[in-house]
Amino acid sequence: MATMTLPETEAQESKRSTTKYVYFFGGGKADGNGKMKDVLGGKGAGLAEMTNAGLPVPPGFTIQTEACREYMRTATTSKEVERQMDEALAALEALQGQKLGTGENPLLVSVRSGAKFSMPGMMDTILNLGLNDKSVEALAKRSNNPRFAADSYRRLIQMFGNVVLDIEKSAFDEVFDAKKKQRKTKFDTDLTAKDLQEVIVEYKKVVKKHTKRDFPQDPREQLVMARDAVFRSWQNDRAKSYRRINNIDDLLGTAVNVQWMVYGNLGETSGTGVGFTRNPATGTKEFYGEFLMNAQGEDVVSGVRTPVHILELHKIMPDVYDQLRDITTRLEKHYKDMQDFEFTIQDEKLYMLQTRNGKRTGLAAVRVAIQMVEEGLITKEEAVFRVEPNQLYDFLVPRLDEKKTVVEVLATGLPASPGAAVGQIVFTADEAVKKAGHGAKKNPVILVRAETTPEDIDGMEVAKGILTSRGGMTSHAAVVTRGMGKCCVAGAGDITVDEKKREMRVKGQTFQEGDWISLDGTTGRVIKGKLNTIPPKADDPELLQFMSWSEPFRKMKVRANADVPRDAVQARAFGAEGIGLCRTEHMFFGEKKIKHMRDMILAREEKYIPAALLEYNKEKGARVSFKELEPAAQSEVKERAQKLARLAALKQLLPLQRDDFAGVFKAMDGLPVTIRTLDPPLHEFLPRREDLMVDIALLSRYSAKQKKELVAKYKDYGVKGVGDLKKALPPLLARVEQLHEFNPMLGHRGCRLGITYPEITETQVRAIFEAAVDCTKKGIKVLPEVMIPLVATLKEMANQGAIVRRVAEEVFKEKGTKVEYMVGTMIETPRAALVADEIAKEAEFFSFGTNDLTQMTFGFSRDDVNKVLPTYLAEGILKQDPFAALDQEGVGQLVKMATERGRKTRPTLKVGICGEHGGEPSSVEFFYRTGLNYVSCSPFRVLTARLAAAQAAAAETLKVEGGRTK
Ligand code: PEP
Ligand code: MG
Repeated sequence: MATMTLPETEAQESKRSTTKYVYFFGGGKADGNGKMKDVLGGKGAGLAEMTNAGLPVPPGFTIQTEACREYMRTATTSKEVERQMDEALAALEALQGQKLGTGENPLLVSVRSGAKFSMPGMMDTILNLGLNDKSVEALAKRSNNPRFAADSYRRLIQMFGNVVLDIEKSAFDEVFDAKKKQRKTKFDTDLTAKDLQEVIVEYKKVVKKHTKRDFPQDPREQLVMARDAVFRSWQNDRAKSYRRINNIDDLLGTAVNVQWMVYGNLGETSGTGVGFTRNPATGTKEFYGEFLMNAQGEDVVSGVRTPVHILELHKIMPDVYDQLRDITTRLEKHYKDMQDFEFTIQDEKLYMLQTRNGKRTGLAAVRVAIQMVEEGLITKEEAVFRVEPNQLYDFLVPRLDEKKTVVEVLATGLPASPGAAVGQIVFTADEAVKKAGHGAKKNPVILVRAETTPEDIDGMEVAKGILTSRGGMTSHAAVVTRGMGKCCVAGAGDITVDEKKREMRVKGQTFQEGDWISLDGTTGRVIKGKLNTIPPKADDPELLQFMSWSEPFRKMKVRANADVPRDAVQARAFGAEGIGLCRTEHMFFGEKKIKHMRDMILAREEKYIPAALLEYNKEKGARVSFKELEPAAQSEVKERAQKLARLAALKQLLPLQRDDFAGVFKAMDGLPVTIRTLDPPLHEFLPRREDLMVDIALLSRYSAKQKKELVAKYKDYGVKGVGDLKKALPPLLARVEQLHEFNPMLGHRGCRLGITYPEITETQVRAIFEAAVDCTKKGIKVLPEVMIPLVATLKEMANQGAIVRRVAEEVFKEKGTKVEYMVGTMIETPRAALVADEIAKEAEFFSFGTNDLTQMTFGFSRDDVNKVLPTYLAEGILKQDPFAALDQEGVGQLVKMATERGRKTRPTLKVGICGEHGGEPSSVEFFYRTGLNYVSCSPFRVLTARLAAAQAAAAETLKVEGGRTK
């Protein structure tokens, strides 16, 4: 029952006396209307609007959201609210000719929450309010149904007990289940009136035991307590999480709707149901919904009884069906959107309890938008806002088919990469390759790891999906899978992955290699067993039609982050207008290339000492052996040897990289391609120092089998057989020790690598321009943009820029052909943002690396933030994961400032963003407002970014507030 208390100002106090807090609806007219969602909440506005339209709505009143906000500030309700509420209650009693909870025909009401944006099931509701020991008897008499009356009363005590008095649900369930057991029955409906009366006696004891007072018998006291409990439910954990996920302002508050109760459980001529005016899963124009006769609303949704398709109502009560059909069609026309409605039939009379814009899948959103334009209900401009950009994922990724299946959720991690994956668990990349295979025989596998590393890439490539127990939204697993368009659930902390035992433990269950699991990368759920999947539809004609309406609005370009030709082809198919980031180190993932990459980073001198010594002797005119050299000279020779080792590895890499660049240029013929020079945090490519230490220490005690496993583990580091282990591992450890860093993400990476080892930049630039010239000669239009990572000073940029320009000229001269190109930088250190005006002297373009910029601005490690993030979000310290949605207030300021400062120096400066935020709708809107030329994101987020950018521009052009269906 956390209540947030905010300080109150004098202005607020004086405002109270003039504020209209309570809005009445009934008798064909309402104080409010459908436009007043801010004040009345979605539900209250809908009830007012339906009442005004003459629809059969049970009368009542709405206590507006300001009363909730006051309650949050002061933890009390003002006298004015009480006065207006009493007035409205009196009006309701007069209209209905009843008194709340009193007399022969007692007035009973429901008390429900209703915020501006629908938050289904997140806040609380109390039904049958007004019942007490006396009025329950009157109800029994009046309805001629003592069972119904007793059931209504026990439901009130249960709901009131739980919601208002904070008593655990289980305390009531125990009583109810014991009664069912005693009566040897399975269904609630089998309990008689007498049974339920006995349950009521027990329920009241539960209340007394937990609250030290009796269940309140005064109906007005019940109403006041229920109202305040609904206000408090705005602050419950569920509601807070929902608001965070859906980006709903915490300070809005909820309205409270007090409404005359109608009963669907009065007998066989009563019933209740829910429905949609169109199919919310597919968008098909069909009347869609479910109902139950002789039931209350919660029976429809609780799954105790199986509801019946709404079309069946036509057979049971044709007039009511026709009336419902007519009303809902009118509602849809009125609101110009698909409606989600609730109704109750009491003694053959239909009542509408709620209508609102219905939630729907992406497929349905697009289809409904198109249909409504065709039907003349909305314009094409309006249609552009009818789809949430993130919903377009649905067209690109498979989904889990959860129909007709019992879903057991084992854990929920981060929704790192959307889609669905179903497969058998494997714990190593090798096993994934073995089991999934590359050829025709493909077993679907899910690679389960504590976290992934570049070495897992082959396994990730063949797996259907990836599950990690550690890591955040920008962890290796998350970034790589998003690039691949592969489903990934990351950081599922409840799962323990025991790679040694090849086991995954969660919820007291143990899963072994070969067990089936299903992943939902869109929600982060890990589900036990094998579900079916529904395949994606990227070239869906309706999607293309919808995009053809939104695209003319878009002013900001959308590029993709793609590292290999295959991803570039994919990105272009989704409409990418260039590559905004080609991470060249990613080109080296994969069996054949990673060895050379490791060789280059390790640059182990042993093999190259003789050559380096020769060079040294020649230069000095000497003829000495290595041993004869002074220590300082020995170090110099070692460094030369390391450089030779690096050059040898680079020589192997150059042709491979050139081919990859050529492939990307070809795929992006006519479009710009931003290639970043090497930026590998070294730890991603080195063997683990601790592993090496342990292996060396235990080598003599390892069994033959274990030694064989070691050979496989270190095969890329010069270990060919068991006999090599003893000799090869200690010098490897020594080199790893030399390269070891305490903070690799702040270490020897980015431009620091290219500055300390210029030969790396030189080789890469050579590969880029050789490929560019070759492609140009073949008639391919190449527009390379070479980008320097992790720059913090002008001189760093100047140093690397000079190498790029020099080598480019060399290649052009050698090949006799020139290509247009640009040299620019990432802005991903706070210092670079601060001195952007300086850096722009050398950089022809900027691209914000918002992953690192967020990391360094907050001082959060990208890979470890998940340790604190859940608490930060739960406590409201952060509203969103700043690695997923740009922190506009903080990091955003740096983006804005750097853009302005950069353009002061170079007015034509092209500015983009290539961090993960480039595909997140609210961030895209921010980048548009800040005047960026483009955003770049994973290929599978290109569609989302295109729509988000179009909406941002359209909202400005059409001067509308993104009228999305919330
Ligand atoms: C970034 O930091 O935002 C970026 C795009 O680079 P990387 O994720 O490769 O560090
Ligand atoms: Mg970066």
